[in-house]
Amino acid sequence: MRYFQEEIETMPREQLRGLQSKKLVQQVKHVYEHVPYYRSLMEKKGVTPDDIHGVEDLYKLPFLSKADLRETYPYGMLAVPLADCVRIHSTSGTTGKRVIAYYTQKDIDLWEDCCARAIVAAGGSKEDVVQVCYGYGLFTGGSGLHGGSHKVGCLTLPMSSGNTERQIQFLMDLKSTIICCTPSYAAYIGEALKERGYKPEDNSLKAGIFGAEPWTEEMRRDIEKSLGIKAYDIYGLTETSGPGVAFECSEQKGMHINEDHFIAEIIDPDTGEVLPDGEKGELVFTSLDKEAFPLLRYRTRDICVLSRKQCSCGRTHVRMAKPMGRSDDMMIIRGVNVFPSQIETVLLNEGYAPNYRIEVDRVNNSDTLDVYVELLPEQFTDTVSGITKMERRLQEAIKIMLGISPVVHLVAPKTIARSEGKAVRVIDKRKLHD
Ligand code: ADP
Ligand code: ZN
Repeated sequence: MRYFQEEIETMPREQLRGLQSKKLVQQVKHVYEHVPYYRSLMEKKGVTPDDIHGVEDLYKLPFLSKADLRETYPYGMLAVPLADCVRIHSTSGTTGKRVIAYYTQKDIDLWEDCCARAIVAAGGSKEDVVQVCYGYGLFTGGSGLHGGSHKVGCLTLPMSSGNTERQIQFLMDLKSTIICCTPSYAAYIGEALKERGYKPEDNSLKAGIFGAEPWTEEMRRDIEKSLGIKAYDIYGLTETSGPGVAFECSEQKGMHINEDHFIAEIIDPDTGEVLPDGEKGELVFTSLDKEAFPLLRYRTRDICVLSRKQCSCGRTHVRMAKPMGRSDDMMIIRGVNVFPSQIETVLLNEGYAPNYRIEVDRVNNSDTLDVYVELLPEQFTDTVSGITKMERRLQEAIKIMLGISPVVHLVAPKTIARSEGKAVRVIDKRKLHD
């Protein structure tokens, strides 16, 4: 099985654009008629559904942002009678007040199809045993992959996150072949397996589907080595249903966006201007099929690049590069833009594990950057001079990457908290003083 929905996943681009245009015209009408909040945004911009004839008119529509969703909390974006909804989910609240999303049965169905496409792209079929250790509940990760796994016909283990001892027991005893969780939890499971004396080839895993947080290529190699698998990226957000908006194929060069359900644009985050393919900017999604919570031109704040280069896997849908993180993850330290992912790249390249914490503060009007990095047991030495030497080396490597110098603190193994869901790696104390 190469594709879950071959005809759609490999549809010629022109036909795909025609399909998007047709759906867009209907979707704009649906929203205009049923969501007074968005209708008033359209009125303010002087645009009506009659102005939208296809994808080429998308730019005329107003943007939506997380602030709009907070303002309309809980049901201000509802576009169908509440009685037609069957479920809600909510964001993890990583960056503030939670946002609620609501789904009709059809919304759930299409979302699960997207997750099924991702599982098949990672080599999944009905022969597979899929261990879902994303959180179940309000978070979309667990339910999304769970539903997708059912659709593919895999044996599904609804583990949820946490209880690592039990994860390992089931993984080994039930011979899981595909594991789904956050990359930081995958790294932790890899570490836990090693501690129990298992080698990467002792488990039956062949693939992992990891997402919900930014992770670097270096982290991918680390996880692939420690679990003995191929690690695939998956992307999504609650506002667009959940994971599965985009997923990696065996090429592993960017994630195919499910363009039959979503139109993707890249904009300049400051001016809102649409940027050409290949330029880096903020990702914006328009959902074409969602009934209950149909967001048009939703600004994700995720910074990335799109590529329409043909992919050897046969899928025609546009690919998005790994998001570097959200625009609001970016820290400005002493005037320099810093993404946590840049620091992660250096740490892993220097042979450290992805267990770290970044602390930013302002002392005497000057920004400070402290990076706490955990030593691996085999790196641990108790000579002070040895540690100092390693700290200096890492400091220098980070300085070369960022252009500013951090203070590096190497700390003893097991002293930095592990994450079972989305990892919290940055503490910006400047925000606390404001
Ligand atoms: P919250 O906004 O509270 O974290 P969500 O659970 O909806 O709520 O998270 C969606 C966000 O998670 C995305 O906007 C993106 O920033 C991040 N994300 C999801 N998947 C990936 C991925 N594969 N790579 C990088 N970031 C991701
Ligand atoms: Zn591909």
